[in-house]
Amino acid sequence: MLHLIVVLSALCAVTLGCPSIVSRAAWGARPPRCNSPVMQSQRPMAIIHHTVTPSCYSLASCKRQLLGMQNYHMNSQKWCDIGYNFLIGEDGQVYEGRGWYRVGVHAGNVNPSSIGIAFIGNFSNRLPNSKAINAAKNLIQCAVSRNRLRSNYALRGHRNVMNTACPGNTLYRNILAWKNFRA
Ligand SMILES: [Zn+2]
Repeated sequence: MLHLIVVLSALCAVTLGCPSIVSRAAWGARPPRCNSPVMQSQRPMAIIHHTVTPSCYSLASCKRQLLGMQNYHMNSQKWCDIGYNFLIGEDGQVYEGRGWYRVGVHAGNVNPSSIGIAFIGNFSNRLPNSKAINAAKNLIQCAVSRNRLRSNYALRGHRNVMNTACPGNTLYRNILAWKNFRA
């Protein structure tokens, strides 16, 4: 019993202020085909994306989207894993992609200096629901508290660093008002 309490309090200390993250194992991810480089700590940028896939509102439907994207990224794009570091469903969950430590493939030459966070769905004409937006904001704060992002990080949309419409007009207009947004 004492052992259990020690383990639980250690877990709470580590995850304080962080959203729960659905692990790769929990969504059935394939193992990566290669070891992508390890990322620097205290990265200067968080990049927001949308996936331009159907939306998802439950673990089962988000799993389907994640598995489809991972297959597309690995089989068609020939990347060694799903490209994003984290993905956000409208079930309010954060899903682990490449995670905290591996460089993603999502924003060209800023990949090594950024965390790529993708909302699952198409947000050109509507906003993600508030559960999803809050989950993303909590993840960003968590990244600062875990030293994965600098405290003076810049939040950007994919379109601010590459020639793309991502993360969609409606979502992009919303992130303009998020903490630390810098075009
Ligand atoms: Zn994007």
